Formats: sequence, C-alpha cells, structure tokens
Amino acid sequence: MSFSSRAKEEIAGIVPQARHCREAALCAVMECAGGFLYEGSDASSDTKPSGIRLDSDNHLVQGKFFTILQKATNICFTWQFQGVKGEITDNDADGAGIAAVYEICQKTDRLLEQRECCRRAWLREVFLCTGSVTDPAREYHMEFACGKGSLADRLIRVLSVLGIPAKEMRRKNNRVVYIKDSAAIGDVLSLTGAHTCYLELENALILKDMRNSINRRVNFETANIVKAVGAAQRQIDDIRLLEKRGVLKTLPETLQQIASVRLQYPDATLKELGASLNPPVGKSGVNHRLRRLQELAAQSDDLGG
Ligand SMILES: [Zn+2]
Repeated sequence: MSFSSRAKEEIAGIVPQARHCREAALCAVMECAGGFLYEGSDASSDTKPSGIRLDSDNHLVQGKFFTILQKATNICFTWQFQGVKGEITDNDADGAGIAAVYEICQKTDRLLEQRECCRRAWLREVFLCTGSVTDPAREYHMEFACGKGSLADRLIRVLSVLGIPAKEMRRKNNRVVYIKDSAAIGDVLSLTGAHTCYLELENALILKDMRNSINRRVNFETANIVKAVGAAQRQIDDIRLLEKRGVLKTLPETLQQIASVRLQYPDATLKELGASLNPPVGKSGVNHRLRRLQELAAQSDDLGG
C-alpha cells in the first residue's frame, strides 16, 4: 500500500468527540466529496436543498461521509446508491435532516475561525477526500486536488493559520494546493492524526541527514587525499626534471636526500618522509626542502625552455 493510502487509512477511522469538530468535519466532506441537490434545475440563493449527493467513489471517503453526516446531525439518513456514487435523502418527510446539514455548512468559515480543534478536524477530512502525499523516502510532496472552486482559498487560509506554508498551481484548470517542505508535511500528518506516517517521515528525515553527513565527510577526506596525491606527483615531476637537466646531482646533500626518498616513497606523507631521513627531519623541514626543489625546478624549467 502506498504511503498516501496508509496515511488515509490511519485518519479514516477518526471521528472527533466534540460537536463543533464534527460539524467542521461535515463541512469538509460536503465541500470536498459531496454537495446539495435541489428540486428543479438550478439552485438560486433562497432555494433550500432537497437532498445530498456524494461524488466520491473512494470507499474510505464514502464510509467517512456517511459516518460524519450521522455523527454531526444525529439524524439517520437513507443512502441510495446510483452506480458507485450515492444520493442521500432524508427519512423525515419535512426534510429536517437536509436542512440541518445545510445550516451547518453555512457556518463553515465561522467554525474554522473559532477553534484550532475544528481547523484540524476540517483539514483531516480535506486531506482524506482530496489529498495525497509522496513516500518521504523518495521525495517530499503533499498535495490537495481542490477542483475549480474556492476550496483552495479556504485551505490555504486554514493551513496558514496552522503555520503551514502552502503554494498553489494549476493542473488542467483545476486548482492544486501543495506543500514541499518536509517539516510542514510532517505537521499536516501529525495534526490530522496520521501518527504512524508522521513517524515514518521523521525516520526518513533522520536517515537522509545521516547519509548527507557521511557523504560530506567522505567527500572531505577524498578531497584531502586527492590534494596530497596531487602534491606528491608535482614533487616527483620537479625532481625528474632536475634529474633530466643534470641539476639534481649538483645540489646540496640535504636536497638530494629528500629527492631520493620522495622518489622511493611516492605515497608517503611529509612526516613519513622526514622520519625516513638520516638524521630524521621534522615535517616543516621536509616541506621547506621540497619547496626549494620546486623553486629550482621552476628556474631550471625557465632556463631550459
Ligand atoms: Zn472543534
């Protein structure tokens, strides 16, 4: 099962206890996965709805839709499936159930403004209905397919109040709200109650951090080795040049000695070279002599053309 599906499985069973949170959850499922049905063709502003439709064919969303509808209103609705999607009608002849849902949905913004718990409850259902999240072992990406309407605006506003930065893009004229920041994705998972997935994301972050720091260390050490090997090779080239020009044998004993051990031990460090001399010489002494050879080689190169 994908990371996204697991996150949804985790939150699908969560039904908030407080009435206000249940109402906020109802607003979310109605806005994201359902809508109202009206007698006749169009819904003018003063027409009251006659039914509720469910647009999602996802079984998790369908189950949650029905549960939240009942829990938020305490009304038992009748469910009529038409193909994979559904239509819900009121058992009461007076349509009190549909009216109750309609009234709750009218106060969506007020609910979202008033309480943090309600914002979380709302966000949970919005993620369940429209969201997806990439496996954090691959990349950090969470998105909400918000359709053409104003859901995207409301979502960005709620996320912002929760301290979660989100951006918007268009996909085939549909509005998509997305989050790229790993900590922000973790916040959404944690706030909505997908705790197992949140821990998985945290683990992926720690692993990535460890890999990066190991890589940095390996790169640093490799660079040092490359630098040392490069320096030794240049010293050897200098000595060979001095040898070829017949300069080497005219140099003081100390320089001839260091040239000889460098050729003998091309991989040795300066300290090791110094120790192999008789009498031994310190690192700075070795460095000084090799520099002298380098200068002489440069002069000899200039002279020799
Ligand atoms: Zn609440």
